[in-house]
Amino acid sequence: MYNGIVLPEDKLREECGIFGIYGGENQGLSRITYYGLYALQHRGQESAGIAVSSGGRIRHYKQMGLVSEVFDDEILEDLEGGIACGHVRYSTTGDSHIINAQPLVVRYRNGNIALAHNGNLVNAGVLRKQLENEGVIFQTTIDSEVIANLIARLDKGDIVDAVRETMKMIEGAYAIVIMTGDKLIGARDPYGIRPLSLGKKDGSYLLSSESCAFDTVGARLIRDVEPGEIMVIDGAGPRSYHADIPGSDRLCIFEFIYFGRPDSIMGGKNIYMARKRSGTVLFREHPARADIVISVPDSGTAAAIGYSEASGIPFVEGLVKNRYVGRTFIQPKQRLREIGVALKLNVLEDIVRGKKVVMVDDSIVRGTTSRKLVQMIKNAGAIEVHLRVSSPPVQYPCYFGIDTPSRRELVGANYSVEDIRRMIGADSLGYLSLQGLKEAVGGDLAYCDACFSGNYPMAVPEEGDKYILQK
Ligand code: SF4
Repeated sequence: MYNGIVLPEDKLREECGIFGIYGGENQGLSRITYYGLYALQHRGQESAGIAVSSGGRIRHYKQMGLVSEVFDDEILEDLEGGIACGHVRYSTTGDSHIINAQPLVVRYRNGNIALAHNGNLVNAGVLRKQLENEGVIFQTTIDSEVIANLIARLDKGDIVDAVRETMKMIEGAYAIVIMTGDKLIGARDPYGIRPLSLGKKDGSYLLSSESCAFDTVGARLIRDVEPGEIMVIDGAGPRSYHADIPGSDRLCIFEFIYFGRPDSIMGGKNIYMARKRSGTVLFREHPARADIVISVPDSGTAAAIGYSEASGIPFVEGLVKNRYVGRTFIQPKQRLREIGVALKLNVLEDIVRGKKVVMVDDSIVRGTTSRKLVQMIKNAGAIEVHLRVSSPPVQYPCYFGIDTPSRRELVGANYSVEDIRRMIGADSLGYLSLQGLKEAVGGDLAYCDACFSGNYPMAVPEEGDKYILQK
């Protein structure tokens, strides 16, 4: 083994995962939610929370940390009810602090609601100012509190109307799960940017950011909640309403590249298969003459296998990932990310020595990790390293709930492919084209691809206003 080095985290990051269950005949809903959140842990590792509704009363528990660290038997026993919802968080807007952990529980004149949100509003700052001018005092710095506040204010006795009216006011990306005293409600923004699925387990209905959580708790996926849809689940089962806001299908294409778990299904497509197909198209667009194909584990592996199958070049494990670095991903602050938040990868020297190597990664954000990996593989004796990337150059920031650096730091926004190749030290560099990516994911759907194309599905704030709620 070549000496492991500490690498800064160099990926875009998903902000949150959400989960909810309306009980029916199932008991132990807090435990089911716990396992659901466990399956969604890759979507956020800073804080975790569960809220339950029992007899119209909502109780909740949330803390900083991983799902397994936040909850124990006693806490879960204490959280029993007929409806439950949960949240895992990584902050992009709002501070990384317990006060910003979710679900948010709000008490108002018509009762209580708990709200779990994945995404980011582009007009939260404006709405928050308006509400503050009207005397509303905010407890948190997150835009999810703006949504909860609007729902509470607009609820004149029909919660569905309140959600619909709120959706007419908020702009941006949101998948939300709302729990009242007697209902579980799921809603997606009119572009369906962030994912949300409906599942069923015996007589219970569930909502989850990803279908992998349904598999974990023994439920089955029924379908995605549609863009602009409000899904209400109560004793009568699920009912669908529409917010009647103009929009179109624009699911985040990065879910297929990196964020989503490979065993999840989104937009009717399995994420692993989409990643594998992207490797096949990548070979067609950027063939290489080499002895072995290796991946940057884990998210580059499916594409590397696709590349290997298409090219006939054998796929081998050339980089070994330390799988026990989870805890170090909790701190999102830039300073800590660079010095302590580390992804440890070791090169298998015996595998790469004397070889021409194709290394497949899912994306390049800053380029720092790629440069170090190419250097490590060459230091371990590889003759050539050809870097293949199963997505196009990331050139624009995301305003929809994904942590992206400013354009200044995005290597793809500032340099040509040849310049990047030289900086990284690879013998060749090939990015999958946007058209190739869409072909791999499935050309029958439209996606948000704004971080590659700059083609945002809606007006976005000026750069610099991205973290509009951050103090
Ligand atoms: S800008 Fe990129 S990361 Fe953000 S929602 Fe669109 S595709 Fe996803």
